Amino acid sequence: MAKKFYITTAIAYMNAWPHAWHALEIIQADALARMYRFLGYDVIFQTWSDEHWVKIWNAAKNANTEVNEFVRKNLWLFKELYSNLRVSYDRFVQTSDEVNHYPGAQLMWKKLVEAWDIYKKSYKWLYCEGCEALKLEKDLVDWRCPDHPNKELQYIEEENYFFKLSKYRDQVAELIRNWTYIVEPEIRKNEILQFLEKAEDVSFSRQKAKMPWGIPVPWDDEHVMYVWCDALTNYITGTGFWRTEDWDKEWPADIHVIWKDILRFHAAFWPAMLISAKLPLPKKLLVHGFLNLNWAKMSKSTGNVMDPKEVVEQYWRDPFVFNLLYDVSLNSDWDFSMERLNWVYNSMLIWAWGNLVNRVVSLCNKYWITEWKADWEIVEEFQKFYDTIESRFIQFSDIQGYLQEWYRFVQKANEFITNAEPWKKWKDESTKEEAVKDLQMLLYIIKNLSILSAPVLVDGFEKLKNILWIEELKNISTDKNWLKEEIKKAFDLKEFKVNLAPEILYARIEENNE
Ligand SMILES: [Zn+2]
Repeated sequence: MAKKFYITTAIAYMNAWPHAWHALEIIQADALARMYRFLGYDVIFQTWSDEHWVKIWNAAKNANTEVNEFVRKNLWLFKELYSNLRVSYDRFVQTSDEVNHYPGAQLMWKKLVEAWDIYKKSYKWLYCEGCEALKLEKDLVDWRCPDHPNKELQYIEEENYFFKLSKYRDQVAELIRNWTYIVEPEIRKNEILQFLEKAEDVSFSRQKAKMPWGIPVPWDDEHVMYVWCDALTNYITGTGFWRTEDWDKEWPADIHVIWKDILRFHAAFWPAMLISAKLPLPKKLLVHGFLNLNWAKMSKSTGNVMDPKEVVEQYWRDPFVFNLLYDVSLNSDWDFSMERLNWVYNSMLIWAWGNLVNRVVSLCNKYWITEWKADWEIVEEFQKFYDTIESRFIQFSDIQGYLQEWYRFVQKANEFITNAEPWKKWKDESTKEEAVKDLQMLLYIIKNLSILSAPVLVDGFEKLKNILWIEELKNISTDKNWLKEEIKKAFDLKEFKVNLAPEILYARIEENNE
């Protein structure tokens, strides 16, 4: 039986339309989901929308819209973007779903109460609506949240329920330190360990009279649950935690993908809640950095924003996805620019990859080359690449390294065809046979590079299936779970027939816009 792989993205908070960071996150998670399908895993890919709490409540009020309606409009924009990016999620969970999410979130609350980890307390505190979190004096810069310097902090004085995070901080830190709960990259692991040293109990509810937009607290009609308590639970309500016995077929999650500013919720609150509720912890937290635009922080107030929808409409899915995955390392923030995207598209996808395919296919077509036997050296090189994919992903979730290696093969093939000049060899009877051999080898390389590109260059791969028309490639699709054996068979194929149909793989932007 195929191994299970459950991957989630973090909350997409429905207070506004999707921005560049959402795009980066969903693209990374989608590539991982597809990669694991490619490797033969039984993948469950869950993404969700976070629809409660102060920020949304206020944003809807400011927009003069009823809150459900407000959320629905933004949700529609997210779904549209996901569809343009061909995001292959299996499940979409909404935290306002009273049938499928509320009962699970409330069950979680009850379990925390049963463990004596919820208590009531009066407090006075500063609250940053931008973070949806309480702020301590030491967190502030000039009495402002460093992440939201334009937002006034709110002064809150009320009696709320608290969760005993402090009781679990050492245990959580130990589980992170000894790799039971893996936090990647290292820099985030260190950051959370530092936070856990002094982590205090957290307010886990608000009074309904002041802010009603949340899930009702069990046994107390006057309170609603803190947004993070509600939202984090989504990772298990999606698996049927509250209604089926066998929800642990999917849980624990294999990877939670998040961005770095929600690290403490996922690496401190969430594991503490799970330990308190006596539930297993997720296996890995993958934390990506921020995207900057044109070498400056993206910000709505300065107008320095990238709308992923517009970029995808202009460039199509593959170039944008490839650009982000090829360039972004997990360890650091990264600068996006249209210049770079343009360069990646023109130089890497159109010229290096698309043109390679086009040259080889056109020449083979012209010379009636339709089949071939592979030469062991190149077969071995591909074999090595292929054999390390699984460990590369299991250990490092290394999409970037994977694509860099893939691209090295593309470059090598280009060097080879430029040096070998098969079109010249073809003209001379004494070297004609060599030309045939060269092109046959290139066909084999293209076949394998096409297969390896499938989890990332999704649209391109669909086109390549038509261009190459290799029987064994036709059924491969990483949109759905696939049998590793089928892909392996196509990959190992050393003799095959093609029925070439020269067609432009990636067109220039001007042509796209016709
Ligand atoms: Zn803040």
